[in-house]
Amino acid sequence: MATHMTGSFHLMKSLNRALILNTIRSNGAISRSDIAKKTKLTPPTVTNIVSELIKAQLVLESRSGISNGGRRPILLTIDSDSRYIIGVDVGVRKVRLALTNLNADISMRKIESMPSQEHLDEKSFIDFLQEIIGNFLGEVTDEKSKLIGIGVAMHGIVDHDTGISVHAPTLKLENVPVKQVLEDAFHLPVRVENDAKALALGEKWFGAGKESDHFVCLNVGEGIGGGIILNDELFHGNDSLAGEIGHTVIDSDGPECSCGNKGCFQTLASGYALKERTKEQIKQGVETSLTDKIGTDMDLLDGQQIFESALEGDPLAKRVLHETGEYLGVGILNIIHFLNPSMIIIGGGVSKADLFIMKPVIDSIQVRALSERAKKTKIVVSELGEEGSLIGACTLVLSELFSYQHEHK
Ligand SMILES: [Zn+2]
Repeated sequence: MATHMTGSFHLMKSLNRALILNTIRSNGAISRSDIAKKTKLTPPTVTNIVSELIKAQLVLESRSGISNGGRRPILLTIDSDSRYIIGVDVGVRKVRLALTNLNADISMRKIESMPSQEHLDEKSFIDFLQEIIGNFLGEVTDEKSKLIGIGVAMHGIVDHDTGISVHAPTLKLENVPVKQVLEDAFHLPVRVENDAKALALGEKWFGAGKESDHFVCLNVGEGIGGGIILNDELFHGNDSLAGEIGHTVIDSDGPECSCGNKGCFQTLASGYALKERTKEQIKQGVETSLTDKIGTDMDLLDGQQIFESALEGDPLAKRVLHETGEYLGVGILNIIHFLNPSMIIIGGGVSKADLFIMKPVIDSIQVRALSERAKKTKIVVSELGEEGSLIGACTLVLSELFSYQHEHK
C-alpha cells in the first residue's frame, strides 16, 4: 500500500510533471502537441513525461479527438479511477464520510451522528473519529492499495500545516492532533483544514469557482465561516485565522456571540440567528403556520421548516429569511470593499433558501457598493450543495497530489 501511495506524491517532485498533469486536468482532454503549446515545453519533454504519467496510472490515452481530415489525435485525460480518497466532514452534529475518485465523484457515502456534547472531550472525540473512519474503511470493497489519503474538513480553527484542530468552539475542543492520530492509525497521508476553507477549495476545483482566481466562499450554517482564494490559492493569513468573517462585528449592540463578543456577523445572518429571530417573533404572538409544525416546542424549529413555510407563503417565514438576506448583504459588502473579489459563493444550509435570501443580498450590494464594478460583483450559490465541504475535504488530498512538492514534509 505504502509504495503506491508514496509513489503518487513522489512523482510531483518534478515541476514539469506537475505542470503537465495540471494542464491535462484543467483541460479535460488534450493532445500531447497542445500540452506542449500551452506549457511551452518541448514536444520530446512532453512525450517523456506523459509516458511516465501513463505508467504511473495518473493519465489515460483515448482516441476521441476531432479529426482535421487526418487521423484523430490521441487525447490524454486523468485516469480518475486509478486512485481513491476518503473525505471526512466533521460538523457540529454529524460527520459525513465519502469515498471518491480523482475527479471527486463519490462512490460511497455515510453519515454518522456526533456523540452528545457531555460525552465529548479531546480523547473521546479522536477515538470516535478513528472508529468511524476505521468502520468506513472496512466497508470499502475496492482495492485498498488505491487509497492515497484522507482529507478532513473540520469546524473551527485548524492549523493546516500541523493538522491540529486548534479551537472548535461549538464542540468545546482545543488542540486535537487530528492529522497525527489518523496518520498513525491508518498509515495514509492525512490533510486537515477548516470546513469553510475546504469548501472554498472544493468550489475552486469542482464548483462555481473554477474560472475565478480571487473569490470568497461563505459557509452559512449554524455559524458563518469563510474561505478566501487569492491568486488561485487558499489564503490562511498569519495564524490560520483568515476567513473568520463570521466573527467580524457588524452591530456592536447586537446579540451575544459564542465567541463572547456582541453583534458578530454570524449572530445576525447565520441559520442559528434565523431560528432565534423566528422564535422571538412567535413568542411575541406573531401568527405563523410554523406553530402548526412545531406546536409549543420551540426546540423543534429548524431552518428547513422556515424555508418550507416561506415557500407556502407564510409572511413571518418570508420576512425572517428576507432579513437574513439583508444581514448577509451587509457582511458581503464588507468583504467586497476589503478584498475586492470577483465573486462571492454562498454555501451551507442557509443557501438552500436562495429563493428568499439572494434578492436582498444582491439589492443591498447594488445600492451600497462603492463603484459600479463592485456593484456587479458576482454573488452565486455553491454548486456543490450540502456535500461541498466533504468534496472540499477530498480536494485537500487531491491538491497535494497534483501540486509540485517542493520538499518532503
Ligand atoms: Zn463572534
